[in-house]
Amino acid sequence: MPLCNCSLCGNVYQKVYSDICHPCSKQNDAILCKIIEYVSTSEKENFLLESISAELNIDINIVKYLNKKGDLIQIKNKLLFTCRKCNEEFQPTCHKLEFCPNCQQNTYNSVYKEKESLNKSNLLSQLENSIKSKAAAKKRKDSDHDYGFKNSNS
Ligand SMILES: [Zn+2]
Ligand SMILES: [Zn+2]
Repeated sequence: MPLCNCSLCGNVYQKVYSDICHPCSKQNDAILCKIIEYVSTSEKENFLLESISAELNIDINIVKYLNKKGDLIQIKNKLLFTCRKCNEEFQPTCHKLEFCPNCQQNTYNSVYKEKESLNKSNLLSQLENSIKSKAAAKKRKDSDHDYGFKNSNS
């Protein structure tokens, strides 16, 4: 079994299934229960991960870790994420989302555009290359003539 550093507390542990050590994962189970109970019984409609961390006095890294693992999925409807790009708060449709719908759309568009212009420049350079190689072939042919290789056979 490989030795690893726990991604939460940094302690060395023997990696079996999880990327965190046993004490951390045990602690996390308790924390997860606390979060879910707190959020689902609260009258507040939405919670930022940061506010869960502050209100329950839980390390934000643990809250984020649990969220990343998908453990907060059952309180998903009450969660608010902060967009990594514009800092706008948004309701996530999936726990892996990092950008608000707007930024997601924009990122998608710019990636698409980049791809498109890349394709275009690829096409152009392909065209250029084929013209060049045709010209080179023609040159070779011409020089064949110059040396009379073609004529000697005819
Ligand atoms: Zn740990
Ligand atoms: Zn955004």
